[in-house]
Amino acid sequence: MKIGVLALQGDFDAHRRRLEELGADVVLVKKAEQLDEIEGLVIPGGESGTFLKLLGEAGFEKLKQFVHAKPTFGTCAGAILLAAEVENPKQAGLGALDIRIRRNAYGRQIDSSIREGRFLAEKPGDSRIEMVFIRAPKIERVGPGVEVIATEGSDPVAVRQGRVMAATFHPELSDDTRVHQAFLDLCGADTPVRRL
Ligand code: GLN
Repeated sequence: MKIGVLALQGDFDAHRRRLEELGADVVLVKKAEQLDEIEGLVIPGGESGTFLKLLGEAGFEKLKQFVHAKPTFGTCAGAILLAAEVENPKQAGLGALDIRIRRNAYGRQIDSSIREGRFLAEKPGDSRIEMVFIRAPKIERVGPGVEVIATEGSDPVAVRQGRVMAATFHPELSDDTRVHQAFLDLCGADTPVRRL
């Protein structure tokens, strides 16, 4: 399965390594045309405002078409890009997930931390999972069609809507492969992509 990792900026290489470890054929996506060659896409962490600048209007439109049609997984800045509503400050979202997300929501003191949360998409068994948060956003509203698949305390930290998923933490920085495996499972599944 050919999976793209958006490689404009941010920690795309850690995603590439993890996906390859799980057997995916990975393409680093640097040009919008490459979206035509792949069956799923990971949008990594980084700085969401910078992503928007680097994408430009045409790149944003092409990416928007992709995420509304094919499986996509966004982490951190990637989660921000996939959201319908972005706060602090307000910025454009691709609207693939009916969520409202607040950038840099944990303040300066605890802006980066490693915590233990629960990953609920996993088959029965231990749902505890390490979560690395780096200047993380917070999911403030979850629309009716959106499933919460991971929590940290009482906060939703990973969600799924159709074949689009997002996490506010960085699973590519932990040894645990379950979150990326869940995305690859989604890429292979027949679950239709839900529309807003
Ligand atoms: N704070 C970043 C943003 O608002 C996201 C941080 C990250 O991706 N690690 O885009």
